[in-house]
Amino acid sequence: MSDTPQDVIIGLEVHIQLANLKTKLFCSCSSDYRSAEPNTHVCPICLGLPGSLPVINKKSIEFATRLALALNCKINPKFWFFRKNYFYVDLPKGYQISQYNKAGGKAFADGGKVTIKINSSKKEILLNRIHLEEDPARLVHKGSIRTSPYTLVDYNRSGITLIETVTEPVLSSPAEAREFLNQLKLIVQYTGISDLSLEGTLRVDANISIKGHPRAEVKNITSFKEVESALIYEITRQKHEIKKGKEIMQETRHWDGRVTIPLRTKEFEKDYRYFPEQDLVPIVIKKEFIDEIKDYLPEMPNERVLRLQKQYMLSEFDAENLILDKYIADFYENGVNKDPTFGPDEYKLYCNWLMNNIVGWLNENNKKIDETKLKPSHIIDLISNIKKGNITTKIAKTLIGDMMKGNSISKMIKDKGKKRISEETIIEEYSREVIDENPRIIEDCRKNPKAIEALIGRVMGKTKGQADPKITRKIMIILLRNMRIID
Ligand code: ZN
Ligand code: MN
Repeated sequence: MSDTPQDVIIGLEVHIQLANLKTKLFCSCSSDYRSAEPNTHVCPICLGLPGSLPVINKKSIEFATRLALALNCKINPKFWFFRKNYFYVDLPKGYQISQYNKAGGKAFADGGKVTIKINSSKKEILLNRIHLEEDPARLVHKGSIRTSPYTLVDYNRSGITLIETVTEPVLSSPAEAREFLNQLKLIVQYTGISDLSLEGTLRVDANISIKGHPRAEVKNITSFKEVESALIYEITRQKHEIKKGKEIMQETRHWDGRVTIPLRTKEFEKDYRYFPEQDLVPIVIKKEFIDEIKDYLPEMPNERVLRLQKQYMLSEFDAENLILDKYIADFYENGVNKDPTFGPDEYKLYCNWLMNNIVGWLNENNKKIDETKLKPSHIIDLISNIKKGNITTKIAKTLIGDMMKGNSISKMIKDKGKKRISEETIIEEYSREVIDENPRIIEDCRKNPKAIEALIGRVMGKTKGQADPKITRKIMIILLRNMRIID
């Protein structure tokens, strides 16, 4: 079934936990709950006990302002929180404190946009709004949600600050949705309001419909890849239903990793009986407050791409790759700025080593760069040793693992006693070269196998003594045997 992009309509609601806030949205409980025992970061407010009164966390307003500015939203100067009423075990008060943009209510900020790149053409994804709300408690199931014999509730998550970004229904394919999420994640990373690598920091509700038909909402998807898969599944399902002459139900569905299953027919907004939260004063956001945050707002990813190209003469491709992880881009700039002799060639070399070899190693070993002992100066040292001819590129590549442990190439070269080139494939390549270049010694080997020592010596010479002699001998014997030079 082919998806003509025009007939698929997707809108996303992205909940992001402001994980870099130290405390919850309406109380001073620690929001660092992930390694804590269940129900230890709780107080009467976030447990929803009668008589407790919420107090707004000022820092959460600051963080929301940062995101609103980064997304080019228009911040509302005054708003009330609203109660969104529904009954569920994860919501002890019977309502969630949220924001509402009707009935006199306002979102935190309206509009905004995120630019995405799909097949090298750009598209602006318009946002409807962003708003603040509290996270409900966390439900823990044994095994799958459908077969679990019981549900446990952990209120540590109750009251954590969420910021919800709501797009207009303008996404027209699962791939666009995924790219949008990638960009949003990047912007959040750059604003410093959340570390989205933490489990559960990001949850997506996807609204999806085929033009002219009601929409279904798939709730609580927790990874970008899953969002894409769920959307692909849902498009196919809805098109099938329509083809069979059935009407799509407006309903909420659950993605179980393979299929979407109906949870409940969609609640309508009126079911939530939204009304203003009387326990909190209206929030007023002054222009000076916004201006001050604007002054300190870090550079955003799109700005950085342009600057990196200009400042380090990198290609657009390289610059776009570098900024995909803020820490990698920071590492890059830290590194290249350490050596005043660096010019365009070194900027490019540094970028190549970082993006091809270091990031490759990080991915393979499932680590982040700050979880290793690699320092920006290690790559400078590596480049300079290659330049001086102290080490070949080929050998340097085999030493990346050691470098990640904090060993510099210079130290490894000095450290003569240590065997360093033990990678058999590399020794084999050198051995083959030596065999090709030394037909006379090969002839000697036919008569006297002891002549193999001369060949091993040549390999050691070529590698400046870095090859492991034992492994070299083993490989040389195998090669010569295969050539029927020795028995
Ligand atoms: Zn609390
Ligand atoms: Mn929400």
